[in-house]
Amino acid sequence: MTGARTLYRDLTLIDGTGAQPVADAAVVVEDGAIVYAGPAARTPASPPGERVVELGGRVLLPGFIDTHVHLGMEDSRELLNNTLDRTRSLHAFETGDRMRRTLAAGVTSVRDLGGADAGFRQAQERGLVSGPRMNVALRLMSHTGGHADFTMPSGVSLQECGGHTVVEIVDSVQEARVAARRLMRDGADVIKVCATGGVSSPSDTPDDEGLTVEEIAAIVEETGRHGGRPVAAHAQGAAGIRNAVRGGATSIEHGYLVDDEGIDLMLERGTFLVPTLSTFDFEDRVHLMTPKAVETKRALADRTFERVSEAVRRGVRVALGTDAGISPHGANLAELRHLVGVGLSPMAAIVAGTRDAAELLGAAGALGTVEAGKTADLVVCDGDPLSDIALLGDPDRVVLVVQGGEVVKDARD
Ligand SMILES: [Zn+2]
Repeated sequence: MTGARTLYRDLTLIDGTGAQPVADAAVVVEDGAIVYAGPAARTPASPPGERVVELGGRVLLPGFIDTHVHLGMEDSRELLNNTLDRTRSLHAFETGDRMRRTLAAGVTSVRDLGGADAGFRQAQERGLVSGPRMNVALRLMSHTGGHADFTMPSGVSLQECGGHTVVEIVDSVQEARVAARRLMRDGADVIKVCATGGVSSPSDTPDDEGLTVEEIAAIVEETGRHGGRPVAAHAQGAAGIRNAVRGGATSIEHGYLVDDEGIDLMLERGTFLVPTLSTFDFEDRVHLMTPKAVETKRALADRTFERVSEAVRRGVRVALGTDAGISPHGANLAELRHLVGVGLSPMAAIVAGTRDAAELLGAAGALGTVEAGKTADLVVCDGDPLSDIALLGDPDRVVLVVQGGEVVKDARD
């Protein structure tokens, strides 16, 4: 495609910066990058051979970024399915199918926070599989008996996903440091730590504290000695959230029960909140969950809505993340509606899924907005997402997806 130049026109541009939409806009893509985005009247002159795509007045947005997925996990919530009844090859093909569906939903980049190994990222980069660009955490780190410790009461451990472990068990500052080194050696783009227990873990609760401030700080320091990596902290209870922020985590994943002090700390440090509210759409799947998980999740729902709304009200930075694998794959942008439900405007929710998500990935220079110089990751939808944010959650209304300048989905009538 070298030299290929495409003009997208007859569109309304929502560029992901939070700026007002531009009606009658045009976007020019060349060699996989955006060379112009703005009013059609100022479009640079077309060279001979330029391809023209008419969008019929539809809305064009940046490719979305889901900063919290588990592509290696089937979304049935059945741990056993992921661990015992799959060969490695079947698991890999199934993961490839989930990647394809995620891309078709309008998600051109993801951060996989446990389960997918670096081979999935490489396969996508090499064009062997159609899917979002991937940043991978590989494995999640917790204490013995913590959120990542899937040792069941029988003594059997369910820590495998696709034939490899998804767990780093650490119980001291030194072990945390060594695990961070091991993860970076194995190709981790982001380090995932568990600062609290969780809903689905067999032997702890969301209020239990996980890694200590000192352990998290050691991991942050260790990544800094190797070029830097974001540190994503699974944290649901208030005390563990504070520990994670104090230790220097880049983002709080879930953050359900953040207290006022936690919000103060996040504002002070510029910590991102990735609230993964899609995980609360679980009532149609309770039959797939353990009774303990159902009870815990129901008890969390109202408090979570209150506390995340308060964090939004006070201005904590939010990035879109779904926890797909726990929530369904391939409907990732349903999270936008939940973000609006906790107080973001539709435009702010879009920014959380584009520009701000790119910043959390450390990729704001290349991804997240439709601006000249950025990578051409674009999404076109039917309807106006600013008046109906929920429409983006329906993959059928995401009619065109462009990734790195290549059309990867075109379902326009
Ligand atoms: Zn998760």
